Formats: sequence, C-alpha cells, structure tokens
Amino acid sequence: MSEELVIAGAGIAGLALAAALRHAGSAWSCRLLDERPALGSTGGAITLWPQALAALDRIGIGAAVRAAGHPVGPGTVRTRSGRVLRTLDLPLLAVRRGVLVELLYAGLAPGSVTFGCAVTGYQRAGAGVRVQTSTRPLDAAALVGADGFRSRVARTLQPGLRERYAGYPAWRGLTTAPGLTAVQLWGERQELGVVPLGADLAYWFATAREPAGATGHGTAPDQLAHLARAFRDWPDPVARVLAATDPATVSRVDVLDRERLRRWTDGPVVVLGDAAHPMRPHLGQGGGQALVDAALLAGLLGVPGTPAGRPAAAFAAFERHRRRPTERVVRASRAASLLVDAPAVVHRLSALVPDRWVRRALRG
Ligand SMILES: Cc1cc2nc3c(=O)[nH]c(=O)nc-3n(C[C@H](O)[C@H](O)[C@H](O)COP(=O)(O)OP(=O)(O)OC[C@H]3O[C@@H](n4cnc5c(N)ncnc54)[C@H](O)[C@@H]3O)c2cc1C
Repeated sequence: MSEELVIAGAGIAGLALAAALRHAGSAWSCRLLDERPALGSTGGAITLWPQALAALDRIGIGAAVRAAGHPVGPGTVRTRSGRVLRTLDLPLLAVRRGVLVELLYAGLAPGSVTFGCAVTGYQRAGAGVRVQTSTRPLDAAALVGADGFRSRVARTLQPGLRERYAGYPAWRGLTTAPGLTAVQLWGERQELGVVPLGADLAYWFATAREPAGATGHGTAPDQLAHLARAFRDWPDPVARVLAATDPATVSRVDVLDRERLRRWTDGPVVVLGDAAHPMRPHLGQGGGQALVDAALLAGLLGVPGTPAGRPAAAFAAFERHRRRPTERVVRASRAASLLVDAPAVVHRLSALVPDRWVRRALRG
C-alpha cells in the first residue's frame, strides 16, 4: 500500500502538519493539494498564544517565528467613548501571516505542494483511500482534510453540513499610523482592535453587524470608506488607523457558523484546523489551535507500514485528545462575540470581572 499521506489544503494546518512530520524525520511522505494557484495568505497578521508557539517549537520553527514576530505588549479594552474598561498584558506574539506561511512552507520537502488542484471528495478503498480531485484521482494510505471552513473532506464525512451567517463580516488590514499600542474598542454592536507589529506598523481588525454580503463586492477603498463611516466619531486611534491603511492590505470576510461535525475521522481520513473546528475570530485562536492540532497529529502518526503506524488508530487518538479542548474554544469565541453585541451597560459591568478570569477565558 502507498505510504503517502494526502493533505487537502496548504493553509496553516496543512503546512504545519507536513512540516512537523518532516522535522520529526517521519517516513510518511506528504502530498499537499491546494485549490489556490500559489502559496498565499490574506488577513495581514495573526496573534499567537503560548500554546501555539510551543507547537511551532515542536515543528522546528518556533525561534524563527519569535524572531519575526512582535510581542503585543500591554493593551486596553475600552468603550466606544474611550473609557478604559480593563488593562491587560497578554503573552501574545503578533506575526505577519505571510511570514508564518513562508516559514512553514520552508519546512516542507521540495515539491510537496501541488497548487491549483482541489480535493472534491474521497472514497475508502481497502485499508487506504481514493482521493477525488479536480484533476485526477489519487490513491493514498490516508487523507487529512486541512481544507478550512468550507472543507470538502468534512462535507464528505458529513454530507449536508450546514452553515449560517453569524450576522457580521470581519475586516482586517495593516496600518502605518505611528505609536500605536494594543487596544480593543467595543460599542454599538461593533468592535475595532489594534495590534502593534513594530514601531510604525500595526494590524487591525473590525466587525460590524450588517446583512450578509452588504459590502462584499466593494473594492478595498470602498471597504475603508464604509468603515470610516461605520466608526465615525469613535475615539483615537480609530480614524488614524483607517486613514493610514494601505487598501491593498484590506480584506473582508463574512463570519459564518458551521454545524458541529459529529465525527472527525472515517478510518484513514481525518480533519484538522478549521475543517474540524471552525470558530468565530474574536479570541484570535483558530490558527493557533490548528498548529496545536498539527504538532499533536504528527507525533501520533508513528511509522508507516507498522501496526503502530496505522493512520486510523492515530486519527482516532487525535480526535479523542483534541475534540473537547477545541470545542471549549469554539464556545468561548462565540461567547466573546455575544459580549461585543451586548448593550453598553454590560460592557461597563464587564470591567468588574477579575483579570484572571478574563485571561483564562481568552486563553481558551
Ligand atoms: C478576522 C479573523 C481574524 C483571525 N485572527 C486570528 C488570530 O489572530 N490568531 C489565530 O490563531 N487565528 C485567527 N483567525 C483564525 C485563523 O485564520 C484560522 O483558524 C486559520 O487560518 C485556520 O487554518 P486552516 O489551515 O485550518 O484553514 P485555512 O487557513 O482556511 O486554509 C485552508 C487551505 O485549504 C485550501 N482549500 C480549501 N478548500 C480546498 C479544497 N477543496 N481542496 C484543496 N485545497 C482547499 C485553501 O486554499 C487554504 O489554503 C482569524 C480569523 C479571522 C476570520
């Protein structure tokens, strides 16, 4: 039987799994298929919690990511009028997404990724799996679905998986407004957060309740103009942040909730990252959880061709270890979005919650 592992998706989860296996000297040979034409990433930057950095250490690129990233440092949570609700110094590292993706990619065996090839489904075949793709079918020992929120692998595992608009899009961008510190502003069912990436560079994200796709077809300058209107009269640094944003860095995505997957595995098939446990973005945890998934799964996969290296056993153990912790983060991320939606009085009352509770909830 083939000892090839097909990985659907060369995003954070798929790249991290292949890099982790190679770093561990595993005999599994990985073939990654990605529907995009080339390596890429949208969303400007990502914040990583210590457990994500620990996973990157196991993948072999923790030091390089720390060197390329920027500690977020102390920051404030404020109301829409600028009143400080809380000061927090969280152990977060912010890093450009493109840098993270390039570092993961550099850890792969040359030629591992085929771009422009979508996985469309799979069929179990003996002890292995036949992977259906947009070009030709592939036989493999195992298939890992790292194909994100819209995962075809998850939808083959559970046909009819439903998704629903969460009620708001999320915008992200990079700004060169100087002297910014970390801040999150809440009010009127919208939020805007800023995360420094260096002296004169910062990442920002924003959400605002509006109908699905309401501004979906606008160009990046249109999106910035829309945000400038939606956040008119908000306190400093909102106007400066938006004014000093290069439109080329702006992205917008409708936030969707997806039905819980009843199972993550089907014999030699498994899903991980957003394909397994998509979550709302408010805690900045999805990518970090994907890294933790990848490092753990690489450790469980064992030696191909041996009884201990049977992927089905490794995949079942992976689901046992990761389901509960990730479902806790999915719930916490949703709860964080409900807090943004809450009336101003609830925002003010949230200042009474002890910092250590908040830290625990944010860590997931
Ligand atoms: C606004 C926002 C802010 C966020 N901030 C943070 C943060 O600060 N920290 C954090 O940890 N997380 C954050 N996240 C979450 C994070 O971006 C995701 O959890 C992470 O990207 C998931 O990685 P993934 O590899 O599982 O999926 P993806 O990043 O979606 O990658 C999936 C890959 O699969 C490919 N693909 C899709 N379908 C197919 C197919 N059928 N066949 C082949 N290839 C396919 C795609 O092209 C893509 O390359 C944020 C998310 C949003 C929306």
